[in-house]
Amino acid sequence: MSSRKRFMLPEEEIPRQWYNIVADMPTKPLPPLDPKTHKPLKPEDLYPIFSKAVSQQELNETDAWIDIPEEVWNCYRNYRSTPLVRATELEKALGTPAHIYFKNESVSPVGSHKLNSALAQAYYCKSEGITNVTTETGAGQWGCALAYAAQTFGLEAAVYQVKISYNQKPYRRSIMQTFGAQVTPSPSMSTRAGKDILTRDPNNQGSLGTAISEAVELAVTTPNCRYTLGSVLNHVTLHQTIIGLEAEKQMAMAGEYPDVVIACFGGGSNFGGLSFPFMRHNILDGKKTRFVASEPASCPKLTHGVFQYDFGDVAGYTPLLPMFTLGHNFMPANIHAGGLRYHGAGTIVSQLLKDKMMEAVDVKQLESFEAGILFARTEGIVPAPESCHAIAATIREAKRCKEEGKAEVLLFNLSGHGLIDMSAYDQYLSGSLQNFEVSQEDVNRNIEQLEKII
Ligand SMILES: *Cc1c(COP(=O)(O)O)cnc(C)c1O
Repeated sequence: MSSRKRFMLPEEEIPRQWYNIVADMPTKPLPPLDPKTHKPLKPEDLYPIFSKAVSQQELNETDAWIDIPEEVWNCYRNYRSTPLVRATELEKALGTPAHIYFKNESVSPVGSHKLNSALAQAYYCKSEGITNVTTETGAGQWGCALAYAAQTFGLEAAVYQVKISYNQKPYRRSIMQTFGAQVTPSPSMSTRAGKDILTRDPNNQGSLGTAISEAVELAVTTPNCRYTLGSVLNHVTLHQTIIGLEAEKQMAMAGEYPDVVIACFGGGSNFGGLSFPFMRHNILDGKKTRFVASEPASCPKLTHGVFQYDFGDVAGYTPLLPMFTLGHNFMPANIHAGGLRYHGAGTIVSQLLKDKMMEAVDVKQLESFEAGILFARTEGIVPAPESCHAIAATIREAKRCKEEGKAEVLLFNLSGHGLIDMSAYDQYLSGSLQNFEVSQEDVNRNIEQLEKII
């Protein structure tokens, strides 16, 4: 066994291409549909909302490899590769024969994996002559990433932040403002979508779905402005495959190959980003790696939702996407893993789950923090509340390995650090943190309102 614990790639080994799993999928995802005509979308239909380059990437079913632009790669070089680490102290604490590895995306300048796509999206906007970008953010991770990427490429960024996070997590707002972004709490009176909600419900604390509606509305009504998204969509996951492509090389340096790949799940970008390069070998080379997505019990679209066409936002501005969903009106409980409070899953991951090429588990909030604290005490990194869900699922697998006496290789993604989420840890440590679960009846009631297109 190697005594080394930490594996980094030399600069020339940092991948030059992203991996598009759709090209290799045995069953392609169903197409996104125009909400009015129910016709499949063409890239041109997305041009008013997104940059042309990502609109084309979104619908690309043929190219397995897509070049990373030199300008983006140069930015990646400033913080990549990210470390692959063997979690030996966590293994000891659990007394498991499993070999546990994690890919540490928390070392990016903004503290999470989100920058990998923000840099690409900002670069493409800049190269197409766009001057302004807009987006929504929940806990603020994506907003921070976009704010920094916009600054890097000389764009103005306007961010709608879910109101409850804007008030509860002031430091991420300050970071976005430090990078030069304009931050507005959502719902706001600055858009029709926001006004509609606030006149009905003046105390509405906002949701990602509402903030998306506001940001999309701003993008389509402002010249030279485009919308960007930090999760869910195919092009976002494409950019995140840099994580798994690096990890593949680093696992080889460690002389191992994962039996189980695990990531937390909001819309699927860090899960897909780590998983897809390994899943490629299941599809093409007959490998038998398992892939486990870990979602919160309070927002369980993969484990309790339905596979159906649904909108990505509350107001119904986005195209209809074929996804595992809890319904676009679903209002998740206010858990601390803000990045996992989204009603739907990306279309690629939804198809893969339907085809049983991956699995999903749900984790309650208290179990996630218990796992996060054990990880912090053993490995010395305070994980983001989102990442705690991946750690909890990994610990479950490590305990199973112990019971079965198997030395399986487990690989999980540490999607971010939790140093700006310490109020959540405070609550856990003082015993005031709660579990939230939704009943299948509540989920069904919401799902029944969906138009049955499938
Ligand atoms: C946004 C976020 C997530 C969830 O988003 P995915 O697209 O599912 O990866 C997970 N972890 C962190 C740290 C995040 O910021």
